[in-house]
Amino acid sequence: MTDLHLNEDCIFCKIIRGEISSFKLYEDDLTYAFMDINPLNDGHALVIPKYHAENIYATPDEWFGPTMSTVRRIASAVNKVVRPEGINLLQANGPGAKQSVFHFHMHVIPRYADDGAGMNWEMKHGDMDAIGELAEQIVAAIE
Ligand code: AMP
Ligand code: ZN
Repeated sequence: MTDLHLNEDCIFCKIIRGEISSFKLYEDDLTYAFMDINPLNDGHALVIPKYHAENIYATPDEWFGPTMSTVRRIASAVNKVVRPEGINLLQANGPGAKQSVFHFHMHVIPRYADDGAGMNWEMKHGDMDAIGELAEQIVAAIE
C-alpha cells in the first residue's frame, strides 16, 4: 500500500498525527477530513491526503483518487446538514492563489449567491487566437 509520508513541522501533518486537535469529520488509511476553523461559510471543511506535499504539483498521482473520494463523501454530508445553495471545491497553489498552509488540501465550501465571497466571476468572451496559442503551449508541457 502507499507509504504515508508526513512532515515533522507541518500543521496538517500534526493534525493527522493527533498532536494538534481538530474537529475531525472522517478518517481512513489515506485521508483525513476536518472542519476549517476560519470558515468562509458554516460547514466549511478540509480534506487532506496523509501525504505531506506542498501543493498539487508535488503530490503523487495515487493520492488524488482517495482524496477525491473523501471529498465526495464530505461534500455530500455537508450538503445534507447545511443545505447551502451550492458547494465549491477549492484548492490553492502559491501566493497568487492565497495558499496559506503548505500541505495539499481540498476546501469543501458551502456557498450562497449573496455571500460576497468573491469567487464568482463574470463570463467575458475570450480572444480565440490567444486561447488556442496557450492551449498548444500547455499541451506541449503535459508530462
Ligand atoms: P489555504 O489558504 O488554501 O492554504 O487554506 C488553509 C486553510 O486551513 C485556511 O482556510 C485555514 O483557515 C485553515 N486552517 C489553518 N489552520 C487550521 C487548523 N489548525 N485547523 C483547521 N483549519 C485550519
Ligand atoms: Zn503536512
